Amino acid sequence: MIEQRAPTNQGSTMTRYRGRFAPSPTGPLHYGSLLAAVISYLDAKSSNGDWLVRIEDIDGPRTQPNADKSILACLSSHGLISDFPTTYQSKHYARYETALGKLQETGFTYRCPCSRMELAENQNHSPRCISQDIEGLDCAIKFRATNKSFYWQDGIYGAHEAVINRDFVLKRKDGLYAYQLAVVVDDIEQQITQVIRGADLVESTPMQLALYDALGFAPPIYSH
Ligand code: GLU
Repeated sequence: MIEQRAPTNQGSTMTRYRGRFAPSPTGPLHYGSLLAAVISYLDAKSSNGDWLVRIEDIDGPRTQPNADKSILACLSSHGLISDFPTTYQSKHYARYETALGKLQETGFTYRCPCSRMELAENQNHSPRCISQDIEGLDCAIKFRATNKSFYWQDGIYGAHEAVINRDFVLKRKDGLYAYQLAVVVDDIEQQITQVIRGADLVESTPMQLALYDALGFAPPIYSH
């Protein structure tokens, strides 16, 4: 049972509505994503707000050549035109690094050389990771779980609560920035007030709320 409390999610009603659609160019736009784009566009327009498109192309191995063009063509053929020039996450590495630096300085992160398999097998980090004696090892940068509860009022699902009790990756060992970090940094930078997206992403929301909290910004209103 979800306790009724003021939500941590405080998308401000004082600022201008700004929504976005942020597809990953891993292939053509599928029906579910197009539906999310239409809903987010119509919600923005019916609120006299802005709507923008951001291509989330930071996962190099999963990015398909020209999928961005095909997605943008599909959006425009349905009349879904961004109010601002389309941005690409692959151009935003400097801002992700700045945010990581801030999280590192404030003690929210640690470097971790353990592979997923090692963590699953040992059920804990390696002694070298725990003591941070990691000189010369390839490391991921992880967000340290805060065990803090996050409450948010989902525009579709209503009240939600989740505790951040598991660490999560912000930058992978291979140097790729993780979705959770990039999406929050860009939503902050682009002053997004409303996020409408597929229900498959609802489990990411608490991690994103934890990042907003750690970075000191108010999150948008989420609808899944
Ligand atoms: N890029 C993500 C995807 O295509 C969506 C990100 C988001 O809307 O937060 O699944």
